[in-house]
Amino acid sequence: MSISYKERIARRLTATTAMIILVVFGIIYGVVRLTVVTNIDRDLQLETDEHKSQIFVINGEIRFVHKGEWQEEEHSQLQLNPIFIEIVDAEGNSMDRSPNLLNNHLSFFPDRAGSGEAWTVKAGSRELRQMQIPLYNQGIIEGYLLVAKSFQDARETLTNLRNVLLVLYPLILISLFLIMRNQADQSIQPIRQIIQKTNLITQSNLNERIPLSGPNDEIEQLTRSINDLLHRLEQALKREKQFTSDASHELRTPLSVLRGTLEVMIRKPRTQEEYQQKIQLALQSIDRMTATIEQLLVLARVESGQSIILEELDLLAFCEDYVLQKKLNTDREINFLPQVGHPIFLKTNEKSLQIILDNLVENALKYSDESQPVDLILGKEGKEVFVEVQDKGPGISEEDQKRIFDPFYRGDSVLGSRKPGAGLGLAIVKKLCDELNIQVAVESESDKGSRFRLVWYT
Ligand code: ADP
Repeated sequence: MSISYKERIARRLTATTAMIILVVFGIIYGVVRLTVVTNIDRDLQLETDEHKSQIFVINGEIRFVHKGEWQEEEHSQLQLNPIFIEIVDAEGNSMDRSPNLLNNHLSFFPDRAGSGEAWTVKAGSRELRQMQIPLYNQGIIEGYLLVAKSFQDARETLTNLRNVLLVLYPLILISLFLIMRNQADQSIQPIRQIIQKTNLITQSNLNERIPLSGPNDEIEQLTRSINDLLHRLEQALKREKQFTSDASHELRTPLSVLRGTLEVMIRKPRTQEEYQQKIQLALQSIDRMTATIEQLLVLARVESGQSIILEELDLLAFCEDYVLQKKLNTDREINFLPQVGHPIFLKTNEKSLQIILDNLVENALKYSDESQPVDLILGKEGKEVFVEVQDKGPGISEEDQKRIFDPFYRGDSVLGSRKPGAGLGLAIVKKLCDELNIQVAVESESDKGSRFRLVWYT
């Protein structure tokens, strides 16, 4: 059974308050009881002191002085709160007692003989508070003075108080629970509105946002977070759509060229030379498509989020080998310019690093003049290890620098040119660098060249 959030809040608060109220009620009852008992005990003590001095021992008998007067006074009168007094000998045999005791006797407790404290005793259906002190004659205990006072009124007061508290306790708790449930219900009302509005947002109206209302509190922060999430989702969806349309466009162009070329070929018989020329054109289109598909596959692999294996790699040896290999496949000038003479070990993925450098070096070769060299620089500055790919090409405008890492983005200057490419190389570089924790940046000046810098923080 699932319990609603407001119910849970109300239950938890009520349970906590129930404990606090229980403690408070317990303290109230305890304090009242203590006060009542202390008052009675004080009266008992006063009476005991007063009557102690009115006692004399004669012929081994203990008696009250002025018993007659005393009989006429308080203890013979009908009193609301009478004091009962009795004298017993050392063995507990009654010797004298106040007339208001009639035929009854107070109980003697030998074990509490000299404690000087009062206690509650039951006398039939009534309760008494009793005190007992020893009576000395020349240093010998001759007997005991028992003084008692009715505890009935106090007991009634305490019972009433206990009953009132017992009735109040559940009543307070029930009303508290209902109030808290109501308050919790009102408090989560804005959350319910947010849920309602969020449920209405689907892929078709992802541009809608939950309106902000009220003060800048947690609810507003939640609304902002959901709106930010919606914004990110909307952007991601837009990028996805853009990516799909760019990818289709990128593949459709060489496909159209291929189709056109084949159509031209079958329209009428051609010479051997013409066939060769058209087939060459068709092959170029196929190459272009293959290159784009391969790059898309690399990008898909990186984006699939598969965990990459990091291994220890000497960056100096790696760059040296890389440049040597590259030189074998091109007649262009590629220079390796290390600024350090010792190995630099890093945890990275060799294959991914190879793809990153390939894309940067290929671009540097592609976009710079055939006569211009491309430099690969390896260096270390403090905690930073860097590799730079530098060319003396046309450079990249500031506007383009902001977007060249986006998939399918091609700089304005290359759009009209015959430089092959689909605008995916740097997007792959960026994704792989993010995966390997490499910072990638570009510096470029028009007509002076570009420098792509990879940085590792060691
Ligand atoms: P592609 O080279 O296929 O166009 P890239 O993603 O590799 O795609 O590069 C994106 C854009 O960045 C290129 O179209 C080009 O405008 C610019 N660019 C990249 N490298 C260089 C470079 N070394 N010199 C000048 N422009 C460059």
